[in-house]
Amino acid sequence: MAGYDRRDILKLGLGSAILAAMPRIAEAAPLVRVDDPELASVIDPTARARTIFEGGKWCEGTCYVPALAGLVFSDVKSNRLWLVKDDGSREPYRDPSNNSNGNVLDAEGRLVTCEHRTRRVVRQEKDGTLTTLAETFEGKRLNSPNDAVLAPDGAIWFTDPTYGITQPAEGILAEPEQTARRVYRIDPSGRLEAKSDAFDQPNGIGFSPDGRVLYVSETGGGANPEGARGIHAFDVSAEGNLSGKRIFAAYDSGVPDGLAVDVEGRVYAASGDGVRIYGSDGRMLGRIATAKTVGNLAFGGPDGRRLFIAATDVIQVIDMKVAGVEWLGRK
Ligand code: MG
Repeated sequence: MAGYDRRDILKLGLGSAILAAMPRIAEAAPLVRVDDPELASVIDPTARARTIFEGGKWCEGTCYVPALAGLVFSDVKSNRLWLVKDDGSREPYRDPSNNSNGNVLDAEGRLVTCEHRTRRVVRQEKDGTLTTLAETFEGKRLNSPNDAVLAPDGAIWFTDPTYGITQPAEGILAEPEQTARRVYRIDPSGRLEAKSDAFDQPNGIGFSPDGRVLYVSETGGGANPEGARGIHAFDVSAEGNLSGKRIFAAYDSGVPDGLAVDVEGRVYAASGDGVRIYGSDGRMLGRIATAKTVGNLAFGGPDGRRLFIAATDVIQVIDMKVAGVEWLGRK
């Protein structure tokens, strides 16, 4: 029955005997959908995912930490950070986590975390203590930092939409103090700079391998059908200034959330229908289909080629043929 899935057989009315003989596929198992031949250099079209964590409420903030030999991620609504090690063991990593969301390693390998509940960005020092990197801008509290990325120059960039102050399961309800939902940059010296206010709700964030293009997910359309949606790109100057805002990938429905970039510049977007994969020119290459909405994703593993996918209440991994940009800093 190659070429047919269970639904096709049901439509064809071929009967329950054939269905019973077919191997059952786990409901949440991703499937590779090919739109462009280039996808073959990214992933084996027959690749299967395996689930390494289940039972979360809203999994987010995937970040592979080589020093821990495992994946750290946020279960935002359970108010907990988890560590799932390469050996399959798991343990709470920070509990409570202040409704943490996005996580990223800084240039020294320290974990940087966006917190909804405290509306700040923190860095974990080697002794385990937390240092606040960003909490206010122009004397007013941030909205609720959502996702962060490391730039090649050592700066940390993050998005600041309002989800952590408008959704009671993800933080504490509050009126925004900021007049915009911005993209910010934390200079390596620690200075906080606003870089763009041209968003309804900025969310996922990523850099091209050379750091000269910034990608930001616009998720305003998630709550408002008239709102903006899609992945935007900017040119980044040597001084860290943005220009040339453009639509990199348009979304007809749904919204992109977390972003990842591979070493060859392709962009991977957490989406309602799985992980969408784009060439560096914005061409849709294909998709890793998932049964549940994907909130975030990250490359990692011992060789940097393992893709970790946070799909609502589970974490899945799928082996890729390329490594993510995270790998560039570790070679
Ligand atoms: Mg997000």
